[in-house]
This record gives sequence, structure tokens and C-alpha cells, in this order.
Amino acid sequence: MGKEDDRKNEDNGKKYEDFNNWYNEIVEEAGLCDKRYPVKGMNIWTPYGWKLMQNIDRETRRLVNGTGHQEVKFPLLVPEKEFEKEADHIAGFEEEVYWVTRAGRNELDIPLLLRPTSETAMYPVFDLWVRSHADLPLKIYQMVNVFRYETKQTKAFMRMREFHFFEAHTCHATEEGAEAQIEEDLEIMEELSEKICMPYLALVRTDWDKFPGAEYTVGADALMPTGRTLQMAGIHQYKTNFSEAYDITFEDEDGKHKNVHQTTYGMAERLVGAIVAIHGDDKGLVLPPEVAPLQVRIVPIIYGDEEEVLNYCKDIKEKLDKIGIEVDIDDSDERPGSKFYDAELKGIPVRLDVGSDEVEEEIVTLVRRDTGEKSTVKKDEILDEIASTFESMQEEMYERAKKELEDNIEDIEDLSDIDEEKIYRGGWCQEETCGKEIEDITGRDILGTPYEIEEFEGECVNCGQKSETVVYISKTH
Ligand SMILES: [Zn+2]
Repeated sequence: MGKEDDRKNEDNGKKYEDFNNWYNEIVEEAGLCDKRYPVKGMNIWTPYGWKLMQNIDRETRRLVNGTGHQEVKFPLLVPEKEFEKEADHIAGFEEEVYWVTRAGRNELDIPLLLRPTSETAMYPVFDLWVRSHADLPLKIYQMVNVFRYETKQTKAFMRMREFHFFEAHTCHATEEGAEAQIEEDLEIMEELSEKICMPYLALVRTDWDKFPGAEYTVGADALMPTGRTLQMAGIHQYKTNFSEAYDITFEDEDGKHKNVHQTTYGMAERLVGAIVAIHGDDKGLVLPPEVAPLQVRIVPIIYGDEEEVLNYCKDIKEKLDKIGIEVDIDDSDERPGSKFYDAELKGIPVRLDVGSDEVEEEIVTLVRRDTGEKSTVKKDEILDEIASTFESMQEEMYERAKKELEDNIEDIEDLSDIDEEKIYRGGWCQEETCGKEIEDITGRDILGTPYEIEEFEGECVNCGQKSETVVYISKTH
């Protein structure tokens, strides 16, 4: 009771009570993917879902291009010997790798693997690309599909065996340069999160939970309706761990050859899953206007003069087309109720209803998807009204999600205080054995310590030692 119930409202019973079924149904019904492809863990991106992903990619590209990254595309296959160079990385991924061992009728001399991520594809050539300090920093990224043989139950967009992936890789002359890159990555994440209305916690993972081969990892965790968290992005400081294994060196200003310092920043199609989970309701998706594949739908409600109403709709569509708004007209033969249902299911941010009354009075009825709020708008003020509606929706959707995240964080002094599905915050002594004990006792993960240090003075929630370090603990998806 209590907080758990605050997250629910009348329209939102199923999402909170039976999240998995609600989610699994909605992604397909709303047209984001087709799960009937006959390979487990591999779904088809249908047009509506792919457009949403591409819109998120567009925002990501804009942000990373703006910080001097350049887009590349590396081959999918990686030779076994390159994969085997960094010991921790192999240990972290070997259970998940797909192998190509035969071509036609012949066994391959050198087995090839499908990239689970592209360190081992890229780093062998980085040494050829980076000769001197003048070549640094090297900042590249790609958006590709990657393959990981998941053994846990797969879930559309959240846990797939083939998934769409953004990965940025950088090389720097110094550790400070790499540290500054991590700051920049977190700024990019922050800006992107506003575009997709997805607040998150930036947490430095524990040593036993960091990315394989990394010095440390910052995870961006979003809250799901279950009270569990989902990692949306991983930002990794490699220091020289990979550059030593792959011999990536440069000649510095002092004439000495040194190993580069490296970072990576990864995000995946989980962003789509998070948008669905965080903002959707029992009527369907609720998509942030900035990334929605379809931003406005015009619904003609025809009882009288069909042509007059349709022309009025076309006229409005033309105005919106001109300023680059993604808009369509639902001129199907369905009843108005079915048309509303469809627009709600797809999460189209704004619906414009047009009947003969609207035509006569030169107005439209504007309906916001997130609140259901209706307003009457003059036809010749439609562009301004839509722009300000989008702006309010972006802000309010972000704020609502942020409040939900904050309302679901509870401070604890002792492990016995943990009794719900939410995020707990408490002291930790930073001892690995104690940390693992916390995870065993609670059946939850230590997500990590805040990247932006939070002042804390107290005791470890498990062993009672004095502690100035605070950790977040939750179950994860
Ligand atoms: Zn402890």
C-alpha cells in the first residue's frame, strides 16, 4: 500500500498490476515490432517502431556530431584472435557470442564471431589510425545491430539476442582527456533524456558489475512500472586496459610512445522499451512529441458534408507538413470511436478532431494524448497552439516521470527496511564481500554509487561500519 498505489490511476491498472503482459501486448498492438520471426530473441522492426528508433537515433546523432564525434560503420564479423586479446572482455562475453565457423561447404581456418559490441573489431585498426598526439582525441561512433546469446527470458526491446546498438569509442592522450569525455557523455545522455522524457540515475557500478575490461562503468538506470530498474546506457572508462592489449600507442609531444586512454558509451533499443514502459497507459503508448513517428493525427468526423470536412482537414495537414510536423489524416471508414482508439493506442501526441461544427466556426478540437485534455483552437492559430502543446507535453511528461522516480527512492538504515519493489538508498562500507552479501540477502543488485557524489554520513546497511558512501539498491529488469 502507500507509494505503490500512488503510481496507479484509474486508466493505469493493468500497467502496474501486470506489467509484463501489458508490455508484451502493447508493443505489438501499437505496431512497434512483430514478434513472429522464427528465431528466438530476434524480432522484426515494423515501420512505426523503426521510425521511433530512427527519431531517437537522429537526436543521438545530432548530439554526438555536435561534440566532434564522427560516424563509422565497421564489419559485423570479428576474427577469433582479435576477440581473445583482452582477458576480462573475453570472460565477460564468451558465453554470449555467436560464432561463424563454416562458409559454404568449408570450415573456416579462422573462426569469426558476430559482434556482441565492437571493441574487438575496432581496436586492432585504432593503432593504424592513431600515430601521433595530433591524431587525438579520436572520437567515433556507429549505430549497428549486435548479437548476444541471452539465456534469460527475452523481451521486446529490453532483452534481445539481436538488437540495435549505439556505440561511441574514443581515444585520448591522457587520463584527464578520457575523464572529460565521460563528463561529455553524461551531458549528452542528459540532453537525450529530455528529448525522450526519460529521467534516470547515473550510478558508478560496483567492481563486480562493471563492463568487462573497463576500469569503471557509469550506468544510467531508469525506473520501470514494476519498481525495478532498467539500464539505459553504459559509459565506460577503460584507461589503458584495451590499448595495452591491442597495442594502441601514439607518439607524444615529448617523443615518447604511450598507450592511449579509452572510453566507450553504449545505448541500445532499450530506449524504445523504456519510453513504452514509463509513459504508456492502459489505452496504449504515450510518445514524447520530439521523437514520435507521427506527431499529429487529424480525425475527420463526418456526419454531413464529407467533402467540406475533408478539405478542411487537408488544408490543416498542408500547413503542418510545411513546417515539418509528422501528420496524417485518418480518413478510414471507421467510426469516430475506433479512430480515437487507434490514435490512443499508437500514442500520437496530438489529435485534431474536425466535424462540421469545427468547419463552420473555423476551429479544431485539440486533444492531448498524455492528459486527454481537450481544447478548442482557432484554425489560424493552429501552428502556435501545436508548438506550445508539444512544449508542455515534453516538460510535463519528463516531470511526471521524474516525480515517479523520486517517489520510488526510499532511504534505509538497515537491510530489514527492504520490503517493496522500489529503489533503496543507504550506506555501504565499500567492501566487496559485504556488498555481495547485501545482494544475496536482499535478492537485489547494488546499482552503484552516484556519479555526482551525494554527501552522506551514516553506517553500512549490512555490517554497520561507519560509511560516507551511499549506494542504490534495486531489482533489475
Ligand atoms: Zn558493509
